[in-house]
Amino acid sequence: MRIDSCKKCGRILEISRQCTVCEDPIEFHCTECKIVNEEQIHLNCMLVGFNFHLLKAISV
Ligand SMILES: [Zn+2]
Ligand SMILES: [Zn+2]
Repeated sequence: MRIDSCKKCGRILEISRQCTVCEDPIEFHCTECKIVNEEQIHLNCMLVGFNFHLLKAISV
């Protein structure tokens, strides 16, 4: 798991949001500067998640 530090104050960023599929953090924030670092959403995970919901919808 990769956690960045704040570019302004060097604090370790807190995780705000995790990928619902692979549970890697996708959004961080600095508690000191209130800066939010939004990472790119995992396209692969989005596809997996989409297919998963699709399969669930079909099998019901
Ligand atoms: Zn900071
Ligand atoms: Zn992911």
